[in-house]
Amino acid sequence: MAAMSFAKTPGRNRLGGSGRRKVDSPKKPVPSVVTRAPAILTAKRGTAPSVQPVARPVTRQTVARVLRILRNAAPQWNAPVLTLMAVEKRDPFLTLIGCILSLRTRDEATAVAAPRLFERADTPSRMLELTPAEIECLIYPVGFYRTKARVIHQICHELIERFGGRVPERIEDLLSLKGVGRKTANLVITQAFGKPGICVDTHVHRISNRWGLVHTRSPSESEQALREVLPRRYWIEYNSLLVAFGQTLCQPVSPWCSRCPINHLCPRIGVVRCR
Ligand code: SF4
Repeated sequence: MAAMSFAKTPGRNRLGGSGRRKVDSPKKPVPSVVTRAPAILTAKRGTAPSVQPVARPVTRQTVARVLRILRNAAPQWNAPVLTLMAVEKRDPFLTLIGCILSLRTRDEATAVAAPRLFERADTPSRMLELTPAEIECLIYPVGFYRTKARVIHQICHELIERFGGRVPERIEDLLSLKGVGRKTANLVITQAFGKPGICVDTHVHRISNRWGLVHTRSPSESEQALREVLPRRYWIEYNSLLVAFGQTLCQPVSPWCSRCPINHLCPRIGVVRCR
């Protein structure tokens, strides 16, 4: 098959040359970004040009520029995650419980349920004054609200019995709490304690792959890959910035590439439909 396709190449000889004397010319430097206008800007809504790569993959060297643009644009997005973070106010307990509420739940639902719960109970001891059934009512309709109500109750028990009512700062201690996984533990470490860590959820995983910054199949693979490629100074803000971006513009099924402030820097890897 390879020979057939080779033979069909117009103007080529067996050695792969053109048959004409080759004239040496100085190689042009390859720009880090392809400068032609992104096809999406001229394409009809939802049509094929969205899958045409228009930029090179984002790299360790260019990610700073991408993040700077997103940081400047973020205040206009009105994203649910930013609302939630304002409610949590960098309190470790609220961050921990807010993250548990957000698991497998639409961001809009979490942004409503979390403030309603925190108004009644913003410490482990106050949370234990509520029954699991009362917590259920307060957090409905987040996903798995019955299970989460029991998990929250159990976590509050453990925090009081094992950690003196405080949320531990070590990732190993956080992971020892029933119902706390790597995403939740990393979020508490970075957002509440300001320690380095990369919290990778579905938004961070998806967008990092669309940029070509990583090439991974799962959030846990992305966390490891990002630890290699993402400069440490961006670790803490990376999650909240990309979650807000993913909630509003770089959405899962059909991202808003035509409105995206970094569409000239994004190769849109794996995007098959966009707006
Ligand atoms: S919205 Fe489109 S152009 Fe912007 S980062 Fe996402 S895939 Fe890339």
